Formats: sequence, C-alpha cells, structure tokens
Amino acid sequence: MNLQKVLACPACRKKLVEKGKGLQCNNCKKGYGVDRGVPLLIREVLKGEDQAVGSLRVGRWGKVLRDLFGAPQANLVRKPRIFGELIEGSKLTLNIGSSSEKKYERTVNLDLGAFPGVDVVGDGKKLPFKDRSFDLVLLESVLEHVDAPEEVLAEASRVLKKGGKIYVSIPFMFVFHGSPNDFGRLTREGLRARLERAGFSVRDRGLLSGPGSTLSQTLRYFFATLLCFGSQTLYSVWLHVFGWLTFWIRYFDLVLSGLGNAHVMGNVGYVVGVKK
Ligand SMILES: [Zn+2]
Repeated sequence: MNLQKVLACPACRKKLVEKGKGLQCNNCKKGYGVDRGVPLLIREVLKGEDQAVGSLRVGRWGKVLRDLFGAPQANLVRKPRIFGELIEGSKLTLNIGSSSEKKYERTVNLDLGAFPGVDVVGDGKKLPFKDRSFDLVLLESVLEHVDAPEEVLAEASRVLKKGGKIYVSIPFMFVFHGSPNDFGRLTREGLRARLERAGFSVRDRGLLSGPGSTLSQTLRYFFATLLCFGSQTLYSVWLHVFGWLTFWIRYFDLVLSGLGNAHVMGNVGYVVGVKK
C-alpha cells in the first residue's frame, strides 16, 4: 500500500512531500512529523488511549482482578454479512477512528494518536487525504465520540470515489462511554438523514445488537448505580457482579434483532450508504 499517493495536507488538501525526517506541504509550507513511519497529520497528537472522561482509573491489581472476574460484555454484537462483502469488494478502505489493532485487508487505519495498528494520525474532521481516494470508509462506533459528526461525514464523502461506500455503526440505547468523550446517539432515522445530507443514499441498515443487549446493559448499570452509594470502587465491583447475573439476557437478540420493531430499543445500529 503506497500511502504517499493518497496523503494530503490537512490544512489545504494539497500535496505533501518528504522533508528531512518529516513531511511538508508543497502549497502552505506547513511541516508535519513522522513517528516510526506513521505520519502525524494533526495539530495535536492524542496520547494515552484510555483517557476516558468519567472512567475509573484501575491500577495493576485492578486489571488483574478484571481479567479474572470481569463480566462478559452486556451486548451481543453480530456484524452483518454485508460488512465482509464491503471489505472484500474494496481496493482501498479508510477506517476512521480505528483505535488499536483493528485490522482489515487493504485498509488505512486513522486515529487521533499513534496507537499500535494506526497507519496515519489525523482528525476525522480534517482528513489528511486527497479527494476521491477511497472505495470504502468505515466509522465503527466513532461518531458518538465526535462533537460535530456532520463534519466527519462530509469529509468521508469528500475522500470517497463516486459510488464509494460508507459503513457507519453507532449506539442508540447505550450507556455513556467516554473514549476520550461521548457526545451523542442517533436513531435509525437520524442516521439516515445525516447520511443523505452528506451526499449518500442509504443502501442497507440494521442492528449490530438489539433489545436484549439494551436490557442487559440497562439492568447492569441500574443496579450498580443504585447500590454503589457514591463509591466508584463499589460501582465498578457491582458492574461486574450484575454483569454476571444479567449478561445472558443479551441472547434474546438471537430472536429479537430480526423482528420489525427491534430498532425501537436497539442497542447499536448500522447503516451502509453509497456516495451519489
Ligand atoms: Zn497545506
């Protein structure tokens, strides 16, 4: 994969050339760093991946205990078959907000920090790529962490070829989760409207996790909040205890997710759009 062919200055979208150990814009002359082969095309590189707002800081022993007794996830996530088909059919894919170690074929991983597995450090609101560079853009549970999701969708549209596809997944009835922050949810209709406004037509949509996952997660967080008496440590312990007691409810999704009204209390939804 020749990254240089698709990279562009995030400020003016013109060509970047190598200069010393870094990169420089041919046009506006802005300089950018390169860290172990990863271009840093952003104003401020995000450091630790775990700097979540409102998250509990666990020490080494906390991590050991979590590995030993940690409850299974509340949601039963099942990717639609179309996801594999999209990856298969794409010559070059951009994965925005890839986080670490999520790897698909022929895919450029982009995130705010130089985490393991990230190919380019950049901002989804100012993508450091030339127009019409990609066949597919992925936004997997990313838009809720962006303060202006419409800007990311507009950029995704710009870097996609005509007829290129976008796959977006976003939680709906889901608890607050910062990584590093959490700004919102979208209904099925809200997601469709945002995509259409960004120049896409909606091709396919559905749920990654459904009402069973929503109920399982809600019960876990409800009882942890009720019984923690303001203590973060107790809260974390109860999340695991009630996680073990309620995680099985997620398996109702094996039946429920296929039913017509499942999206009404869907846990995480997805949509596939085509650039017009
Ligand atoms: Zn420039």
